[in-house]
Amino acid sequence: MSEYDAICVGAGHNSLACAAHLAKKGWKVAVFERNPVAGGAVQTRELTLPGFRHDLAAMNLSLFAGSAFHRMYADELKTRGLEFVPVADCFATAFPDGRWLGVSTDVEKTAARIATFSQADAQAWRGLVAAFPGEAQHLFRLLGSPMSARALAATGWKLWRGKGTAGALDTARLLLSSPRAWLDAHFESPQVKATMASWGMHLDFAPDIAGGAVFPYLESMANQSFGMVLGKGGADTVIRALEKMLAAAGGVVATGAEVAEITTSGGGATGVRLASGETHSARRAVIAGVAPRALASKLLPSGSGNAGFDAAMRKFRHAPGTMMVHLALSDLPEWRASGELRRFAYVHLAPSLDQMARTYQQAIAGMLPDEPVLVVGQPTTIDPSRAPQGGHVLWVQVRALPADVQGDAAGEIGPSHWDAIKERYADRVLDRIETYAPGLKDKILGRAVFSPLDLERENPNLVGGDQICGSHHIAQNFLFRPAPGFARWNTPVQKLHLVGAATWPGAGVGAGSGFMLAQQLAGA
Ligand SMILES: Cc1cc2nc3c(=O)[nH]c(=O)nc-3n(C[C@H](O)[C@H](O)[C@H](O)COP(=O)(O)OP(=O)(O)OC[C@H]3O[C@@H](n4cnc5c(N)ncnc54)[C@H](O)[C@@H]3O)c2cc1C
Repeated sequence: MSEYDAICVGAGHNSLACAAHLAKKGWKVAVFERNPVAGGAVQTRELTLPGFRHDLAAMNLSLFAGSAFHRMYADELKTRGLEFVPVADCFATAFPDGRWLGVSTDVEKTAARIATFSQADAQAWRGLVAAFPGEAQHLFRLLGSPMSARALAATGWKLWRGKGTAGALDTARLLLSSPRAWLDAHFESPQVKATMASWGMHLDFAPDIAGGAVFPYLESMANQSFGMVLGKGGADTVIRALEKMLAAAGGVVATGAEVAEITTSGGGATGVRLASGETHSARRAVIAGVAPRALASKLLPSGSGNAGFDAAMRKFRHAPGTMMVHLALSDLPEWRASGELRRFAYVHLAPSLDQMARTYQQAIAGMLPDEPVLVVGQPTTIDPSRAPQGGHVLWVQVRALPADVQGDAAGEIGPSHWDAIKERYADRVLDRIETYAPGLKDKILGRAVFSPLDLERENPNLVGGDQICGSHHIAQNFLFRPAPGFARWNTPVQKLHLVGAATWPGAGVGAGSGFMLAQQLAGA
């Protein structure tokens, strides 16, 4: 048995960032991870063929690059090997009629593309981009602050001081609107609206879900204003650098070390018991980077002592699942709409608000969507180092799938366990890409399919393949994430904290919860 100041359960990037900051502050820290490697949803592996490096899950590191953690530790992370590759041609949508629309960092390039759909929308875009710095300061301050009624009130006050009543109400409306309501108010072209709305589907904001507008807005404006970044050689550059930073500060990451129980005494956390039977104690904090359900149902076998909290953790709502299709290719897709699409990091195949709304609803109802919403990532167009000379990897994210399949909206695949049907559903995904990029199948050298259940097997935090570890709908966000009264990474058990995507400020590789908690515990 070893004794530490703090023990982190799970080596997701939030736990690692938390551990690294605590270690820098002189705490003796250990991180226990059940998998053979650290990183959780941020991993890069040769999933198909030797030499083809695939980001298993997260690929876009823009949130990390813009995070407060990175601002504080950029120099050290760089010396520990962190390397980004900037992306100028960020995201695009291909439409079934052969047209396309893409957002590149040159605003006039983007506006000219938008103008082919609507001159008025091109003007609206320029206006939103010009106003973005003023809007972003309030939104980013909110997202970068510990969540409390006071923080919300302070944001409201600063908003009102900065923008006046009408301006503050505009921001409030943006935060409460559905993507469709907000897009209808600002744009007229269905294609422009669809191109932006596809960002809502990266979370669980289908076009008609209240509170979803802010994500398409922020992603569109941030990509336009700052571009995107990928990790050089793979997204795991972040994890390797964090691990080295932690080790240099005296911290330990133990892999292949599943935590079976968080030990408690007198209403406080005292340490962990591993599945192997080993026990380790923590003097000052146990920091669980796990899904709320696992915390209440598994890691605290006798409960937290607060029945309301335990019930909220067990009932924590998860979003629909995701499937990943990873391809090793002999060449990039030949997009029918334009050769220019080969330069984009993401090509969305989500051609209309109605299609996205239908797909999401089918998934919620347990049906395999007939027309899946696809995010086609082309990392090797930006970073060729991830594949052998001339080769490419394709990162295909299938958004909004049921965890338990009750049927097929296309009436082709019988309801069955994911293990039995995932390859057939992946064929549907590839057929769909093929209609936009004929000849893709002939370029495939290898493929690896991860169903929603496979993703959960890889990382139990991805419950039912939920890539954001919990719905971000308003009723489970802000003060309600993960439950009212517990938005500041606290739990009813003294010295036990919950971090990660299930907690404020939510999913994404932004290290927000881990870093803010570490600062709360050990100072900035
Ligand atoms: C398919 C997919 C694509 C995504 N794409 C992007 C993207 O491009 N950009 C972006 O910003 N975000 C993306 N995300 C979201 C983002 O990756 C996650 O929100 C984020 O990585 C979650 O980090 P975390 O710190 O909460 O922990 P996680 O990454 O969820 O890691 C948790 C870790 O804890 C371990 N663990 C759990 N229980 C135990 C236990 N009992 N004992 C020991 N270890 C345990 C798990 O094995 C895992 O390693 C994506 C997510 C997925 C799934």
